[in-house]
Amino acid sequence: MKRQPRSATTLKKWRGEESPSVLRRRGCQFCSVYGPVASWRFGSSLGIDPIGLVSTCSFNCAYCQLGEIEQKTEQRKTFITSEQISRDLRDFAPWDVDIVTLSGSGEPTLALNLGEILATVKEMTRRPVAVLTNSTLLGDARVRQDLSKADIVAAKIDAVSEAQWRRVNRPVPGLDWQILWSGLRQFRQEWSGKLAIQTMVLASWSPQDQDQYIDLMQQLQPDEIQLNTPTRPRARQRQLETRGNNPLTAADGMQILKPVNAEILAIWAQKIATSTGITVRCVPLTATGP
Ligand code: SF4
Repeated sequence: MKRQPRSATTLKKWRGEESPSVLRRRGCQFCSVYGPVASWRFGSSLGIDPIGLVSTCSFNCAYCQLGEIEQKTEQRKTFITSEQISRDLRDFAPWDVDIVTLSGSGEPTLALNLGEILATVKEMTRRPVAVLTNSTLLGDARVRQDLSKADIVAAKIDAVSEAQWRRVNRPVPGLDWQILWSGLRQFRQEWSGKLAIQTMVLASWSPQDQDQYIDLMQQLQPDEIQLNTPTRPRARQRQLETRGNNPLTAADGMQILKPVNAEILAIWAQKIATSTGITVRCVPLTATGP
């Protein structure tokens, strides 16, 4: 099919360059679709944000590119209707991307209408759909049911102990490390789609922690492990642009986090792959996208 040339406005929108103020002036408070983002994990990825203008998550990770999470909660609710997502998606037709990814301004499984959103996106775009989740709500059977509509789920595991989890991910009070793990194991058993474990490495792990991680991965048997290290600046204040390919720098008031050395990451990846037989991918240290 021959594609129509895109207008400058459409191209700007594709690149996620419209600020909330511009959107408001246009009578559109918020666009739930952004990108495409150049993702080192998924290729060309169109982002869906089911959360909205206020960043909302059950974690407040020390490295989160969104900055300090504005609304910290583990309560699910409908933030953006699937009708709005469907309307916003129409502007991005014909969706010539490798994948559509639900991530955006917080934790996508907090969206009570997640299952409906996934069904809508798949039906409209006919593209594979991935969800990036922090794994906290997988103990809830309704969340697992919703997530099972995805083609790929990338579940965050940044820690091997409750103390490390509290330090790195800073969960909201009431979340339980053991429930997270049992939910993740149960999801793995129930669902036959592609499960990737995404792990953010902020500093070299001790040999004991590495062994513990390998042990956990041997038990879980994900399809893939994605080792990441901070390559994107962290917002000091909430800025919608940080959900996509973040063009902002220290000069814009962003905090630059130090990535772990590429060689250290590669050695650890090799150790995990050799011990578990699971494919391990490392972020290229020039990457900017999720
Ligand atoms: S889980 Fe994701 S969105 Fe939530 S605080 Fe951590 S990095 Fe940010």
